[in-house]
Amino acid sequence: MNIRDLLKDAKSVCLTGHIRPDGDSVGAVLGLYTYLQLHFPDVEADVYLEPPAGKMKFIVNFDKINSDYPDHEPYDLMICLDASNLERIGQAAKYFQDAKHTINIDHHFSNTYYADENYVEGDSSSACEVLYGFLDTDKLNRDIAIALYTGIIYDTGVFKYRLTSPQTMMVAGKLMQYDVPTDEVIDESFYARTYDENRIFGYAVMKSVLACDGRVIYSTLTQKELEDFHVTTRDLEGIVPQLRLTRGVEVAIFAYETTAGDIKVSFRSNDPFDVNEVAALFGGGGHVRAAGANMPGSLDDCIQTLLIEIEKRL
Ligand code: AMP
Ligand code: MN
Ligand code: MN
Repeated sequence: MNIRDLLKDAKSVCLTGHIRPDGDSVGAVLGLYTYLQLHFPDVEADVYLEPPAGKMKFIVNFDKINSDYPDHEPYDLMICLDASNLERIGQAAKYFQDAKHTINIDHHFSNTYYADENYVEGDSSSACEVLYGFLDTDKLNRDIAIALYTGIIYDTGVFKYRLTSPQTMMVAGKLMQYDVPTDEVIDESFYARTYDENRIFGYAVMKSVLACDGRVIYSTLTQKELEDFHVTTRDLEGIVPQLRLTRGVEVAIFAYETTAGDIKVSFRSNDPFDVNEVAALFGGGGHVRAAGANMPGSLDDCIQTLLIEIEKRL
């Protein structure tokens, strides 16, 4: 299947990813947008995403992202990338409801097959890797390659996580042929932190607590702490992956207040613990080794509830 077959005769296309978009969502959505501009200039394509982290600005057409979700006549086609269920597309759901045809391109095991056509590869590293399979790979350009490379870098933790396959490396290699400045993309999208991000990272690690005989580690941040460190919930990347690397730990939990009474929880695990299963108990999901959920209540209650569920499964 090729993107040409997916488009059929659509004249207007709506593209979106998931709420609080990460490098894979932004890379896939903008990579596809730029590809459409290049090869299907007559198609009206619009991109809707919540505001991504500013560090993704180096991806071409970042400025085309619309975060206002204005009313629009029904699109001929809606394509959702990296979004495992309809709730994950957030306010873009209104375009989905009205769209004449819908397509879901994703790599989450927990995907609910919510669209008219669903292309879900649960063993693929990233939505960008899945998307690559739909493109004429000899007809990319440097901007598209950078966008897709960013998604792969982001979702594989720089070619580290388990879903990094020979196919992932092959795709990355092909993308490199378009002159991707790989060192810069990797630093920009993965390692570089602002001063404030570095400080909250250190603080969250310092605050971390071992539980269940050292087999679980957790750390929490209140809204007040985020304010004190001049950071927002978008500045917390890298914290839970570092917690997971603590020797002896099987499960890492990082929970923070998004608004009063709403807690965002991130889970990471080491083989063989399945955090997707735990996240799913609370309406969340993701992957076996990386999952997330939103929970109501206080940070303390949330952690106590989670520790009980995790201990049962250790
Ligand atoms: P995070 O901890 O936010 O980096 O997310 C880890 C993985 O879980 C990613 O693949 C997310 O797409 C997925 N995920 C995070 N939060 C949720 C949620 N509330 N519902 C479903 N999947 C989620
Ligand atoms: Mn994602
Ligand atoms: Mn992804």
